[in-house]
This record gives sequence, structure tokens and C-alpha cells, in this order.
Amino acid sequence: MPAEQRIAIIGGGYAGMAAAVTLAAGGRRVCVFEGAKMLGGRARGVELDGRRLDNGQHILIGAYRTLLGLMQQVGVDEAQALLRLPLTLQQRTPHGDFRMVAPEWPAPLHSLGALLGAQGIGWGDKFSLMKLVLGAQLAGFRLGRDMPVLDWLQQGGQSPQLIERFWQPLVVAALNTPLETASAQILLNVLRDSLMGGRHDGDLLIPRVDFTELFPQPAADWLADRGSEVRTSSLVRSIARDEAGWQLDAGDERFAAVVLAVSPQRVADLLPETAALDTLRGQLAALHYQPIQTVYLQYEPDVRLETPMIGVAGGLCQWVFDRGQIHGSPGLFAVVLSARGDYSDWDAVKLAQRVHEELVQHFGLRKPPQWSRVIHEKRATFACTPDLPRPGNATALPGLWLAGDYTVGEQPDSVYPATLEGAVRSGCAAAAGVVGLAI
Ligand SMILES: Cc1cc2nc3c(=O)[nH]c(=O)nc-3n(C[C@H](O)[C@H](O)[C@H](O)COP(=O)(O)OP(=O)(O)OC[C@H]3O[C@@H](n4cnc5c(N)ncnc54)[C@H](O)[C@@H]3O)c2cc1C
Repeated sequence: MPAEQRIAIIGGGYAGMAAAVTLAAGGRRVCVFEGAKMLGGRARGVELDGRRLDNGQHILIGAYRTLLGLMQQVGVDEAQALLRLPLTLQQRTPHGDFRMVAPEWPAPLHSLGALLGAQGIGWGDKFSLMKLVLGAQLAGFRLGRDMPVLDWLQQGGQSPQLIERFWQPLVVAALNTPLETASAQILLNVLRDSLMGGRHDGDLLIPRVDFTELFPQPAADWLADRGSEVRTSSLVRSIARDEAGWQLDAGDERFAAVVLAVSPQRVADLLPETAALDTLRGQLAALHYQPIQTVYLQYEPDVRLETPMIGVAGGLCQWVFDRGQIHGSPGLFAVVLSARGDYSDWDAVKLAQRVHEELVQHFGLRKPPQWSRVIHEKRATFACTPDLPRPGNATALPGLWLAGDYTVGEQPDSVYPATLEGAVRSGCAAAAGVVGLAI
């Protein structure tokens, strides 16, 4: 295949690698340019003080069909790579525990069984929760007009207690945006596919390997076997087009098309200067971002939680993961704090100390951690607010495509928050666009 037919993919995160695999599977040769040493972008393995960690503790759900399909395609054994837990929500709150577990019933009865059997909320709350969710289902999970989640919950008669125990942890984990400003329509898209989806769509999948190993690296190995290239430590600074094709950094190579799969805040710097891209520039400028902090604490090896993952409400900590039960790192906890809060400006020592104090209070830990680190992703995801004008995959320039968690496809129902599944779906859609297929 002549070099001009190759397709350049800029960015080796989940979206870029999904685009690369999809194109290579369709017989195209691709070249991925990743600026960092490691593949994975916002979901990557990191080495800290000799420990192999993630830049942030992520989870997948059973409804992530595109990502699970791609993992299988590049040879990842799901059973080995992921710990699968049935749809479960468990929260420690200052007023007692909340627990919801889906019984082994067919969908959608399993979700109704989970709601009816929930512990830690009264019957009044169970019925108002069921009424709201079933009402949304009857309306096809479509709102006439998007609005902040909190408004939708209050209009739907959800009590403050139900919001604190059920909705708050779910919404902040799924959309990484506070309830006051998060999009109710995008929450409904997620609920439709998870809680109200198939029997295993709401399963929680926690990776046993780091996020570079989960998909991007096996994808790179699979691509290499098929004559495609993945170049790490290859930061691209500019792209331009001439009669021979697309050119990166004024180099000699030419490409038939470019898929720009960098994080949204990096896109504008790479776009060629032309008024045709002004609308896109405006959409990118309208995005705001939310942080996620992951606090790693190493306790004595015999310290463990009752479950691999548990929520904590009413304080700083949101989700606590016992990496001893997940990754075979006994006593290592990862505590996730999503979205902006007062703690976002604290230094790492203060944050780790306060998180430890909360763990003592909730789990009765006796000794302080032997080691702790905080990874602060300041622009972890775009803020998923109502009616956000997000760009699509196509651009106004022929042969220039966008892929990333911030783009939206043709179908309004498929609009997702910033997630791994949103990223890989976007990568696949961009790949389909490059070869002229509608998906
Ligand atoms: C801490 C944290 C926790 C999260 N938790 C979850 C979760 O539990 N579940 C979930 O589904 N999602 C979660 N997310 C969101 C998820 O990680 C992202 O939606 C997804 O990884 C975005 O992938 P992407 O490929 O669109 O972008 P990115 O991952 O940002 O990939 C872009 C890539 O482009 C590279 N790049 C940038 N500029 C250049 C350049 N000029 N030249 C070459 N390369 C360049 C970057 O290095 C990067 O590798 C979380 C995110 C964070 C940060």
C-alpha cells in the first residue's frame, strides 16, 4: 500500500487506539503518534515509587460493549483482565449503610428487584425512585428539554436522603459533574444502558491490570502484527495539507487522512488556521473541565475491605477500592474524589491525612498508612452540562476527523458523558467516517 494511503492517528488514548484497530481491521495501514511514553492518555498505567498504579482508578460497566468487543478483538481475555461484580451499589453514610444488589432475575426485573430490596432507604423513597425511573423508561428515556440533574430529581419528588444515598454517588461517578449542573438527559442515556439495560449491562467491571495493559498496549501489539505502527514519545505540533496529502510537523511523510484523537483542550492548537474551522473552535472553547483525584494509601497487608469497592457518602471520600482484592496488592487502597470541591486546592499531604481520618471513621482502621500519594487530574473530563454543543467526528476539512470522549455521534441517544466507552465509540465512528461508512 503506498505511504499516501496510510492514515495518521494523533493520540494513543482509548479513542485513538479504537480508531486505529477499526481501520486496521478494515485493511487500512495506520500510524499512531502518541506524545507520551505510555499509551492510554487519561486512562494509563503509572509507575510511582516502584509501584505500578493507574493515573486514576476507573471502572467499566457491562454496557461498555464497544470497548469489550475491541478488547476481545485484540486478544485480551476479559475473564483475566476484569473482575466482574453484579450490579451493586453499597454506600457508607453517616446515617447508616445503603445497599442495593441486583438479584439473579431476568432484565429488567433484576433492576426492579434491586430497587425494591434496597436497604437503607424507606418504602416511600423506594416507590418515588421506581416511579421516576419507570416514568423515564415510558418516555423512552427522552426529556423534552434537558435540565440540571438536581432539578429533574426535585421535580421527580426525590427526597434529600434518597439523593444523598443513591443519586449523588451515581451521578458524580458517571458524569463527573455536580448534580446542580450535570445534564439530566445524558444521565438518562447512561441509566437506560446500565440500570435498565440487559441482565449484565449494569455489572461493575474493575480491571485487574493497569489501564495501559487493559486495551491500548495489546492494541498496539495487535497493530504491529498487521503492519501498522504506533510511535510513542512522538508529540505532534502541527498538521497541514498539500496536494500530496496530510503532513505532520512539516515532515516528509504524507497521509491520506488524519484522525485527531487528542484530549479536547489540545485540539485547537493542532487545527490548521482556516475560518472553515471557526464553529469547531467555538465548540471547543465552550467546554469546561472537572478534576478527579485518586488518593492511594498503603496500609498493612492484612487490612482489607469487606468488598473490592464501596461508596462513602457525606464526606470527602466517594469510592474506596481495595486493590488487594483487585490487583493482588494487599493493603493498598485507592480512594476516588470526583468533581471539584473545597479539597481540590488542598496539598497532597493534607488530603491524604483527611481521607485516612474518614477511612478510620468508616472502616475502623487502626494504624496510619505506611505510604500515600495523590494523583490529581485537573482536567479529567469535560463538565457534562445540559445542552452542551459538542462537536461531531467530521470536520469542515476533507480528510480531517476528530475522535475523543467529547465528540457526539449522529444518534442523540448515543450521547455519553466523558467515559472510556464514549471514547472508543467515537474512535470507531471516526474510523468509519474515514473509510466512508455510516455507523
Ligand atoms: C482520574 C480519571 C478517572 C476516570 N474514571 C473513569 C471511569 O471510571 N470510567 C470511565 O468510563 N471513564 C473514566 N474516566 C474518563 C476516561 O478516562 C476518558 O473519557 C477517556 O480515557 C478519554 O479517552 P480519549 O482517547 O478520548 O482521550 P485521552 O485519554 O485524553 O487521549 C488523548 C491522547 O492524545 C495524546 N496527545 C495529546 N496531544 C498530543 C499531540 N500533540 N501529539 C501526540 N499525542 C498527543 C495524549 O497524550 C493522550 O494519550 C476517568 C478519567 C480520569 C482522568
